[in-house]
Amino acid sequence: MATCLWCQAVVKVPVTLRILLRWQVIVPPKLCTTCAQRLQPLHAPQCPQCGRQQATATVCPDCARWADEWHNQAIFPYDEAIKAYMQQYKFQGDYRLRLVMQPYLRRALAQIEYDVLVPIPITATTWQTRGFNQVTGWLTDQPFQSVLTVPPARKPRPQSSKTRRERLAMPQPFELVPQAATVLANRRVLLLDDVYTTGRTIRHAAAQIYLGGAKAVTSLTLAR
Ligand SMILES: [Zn+2]
Ligand SMILES: [Zn+2]
Repeated sequence: MATCLWCQAVVKVPVTLRILLRWQVIVPPKLCTTCAQRLQPLHAPQCPQCGRQQATATVCPDCARWADEWHNQAIFPYDEAIKAYMQQYKFQGDYRLRLVMQPYLRRALAQIEYDVLVPIPITATTWQTRGFNQVTGWLTDQPFQSVLTVPPARKPRPQSSKTRRERLAMPQPFELVPQAATVLANRRVLLLDDVYTTGRTIRHAAAQIYLGGAKAVTSLTLAR
C-alpha cells in the first residue's frame, strides 16, 4: 500500500483495464491528489530577471535595485505550500521528500542550455546537523560540479534567520575549490539553489564562478 510522501495519506492507485492489458508496471504516485494540487508552478506574467510571479512582465523592484542583467528561472512561487515543504524537507530533515521535487527539477533542467551545473553548497555545520544538501537531493541523473565551498571560518548564519538588510550586507561566503578553473573555464554555468530571496547568495556565487573563468552564469531555483 502506497502512502503520500508528504502527508502519509494512503494513495490509491487506479488499476484500469488498459494498464492491465499492457502489462504496465504500476508506479504509485509519490503524492496524494491533495498534496499534488498544493504545488502550483509559477505562471506568467513574471519578472524577466528573477522569475517572480507578478501582475506585469516588467522588472520587479528587487531586480531594479540590483541594476544588473541577472537571469534566474524558478519553478514555484515561494508560497505557503513551498514553505511547508521546505520546512519538512530542509529543516526537519525529511530526506524522502527530495523525491517529490525530482521530476520538476528534471523537467526544468532539460529546458535550460548550460554546460556545467553548480549547486549552492551548505556549510560543514549544516552537513553535520542535516546530513544532506537539499539542492543536490533533487538531482537524479544530472551531473553536477561542487566547485563552491563555504569556508568554516566565515560560517554565515542561516539565510532564513536574517532580515533583508542583513542578507544584502552579507560578505562573500563562498570560495572556489582548487581545481575549479579546469571545470569552469569558458563554460556556461547554471547555479542551482532552493529559494531566490534577495538574490544576494546567487550573485555571490556567480562572482566566484566568473573568477573561475566561466563565460556565462545563470541560475535556477526551486522557488522565487
Ligand atoms: Zn498528501
Ligand atoms: Zn525580479
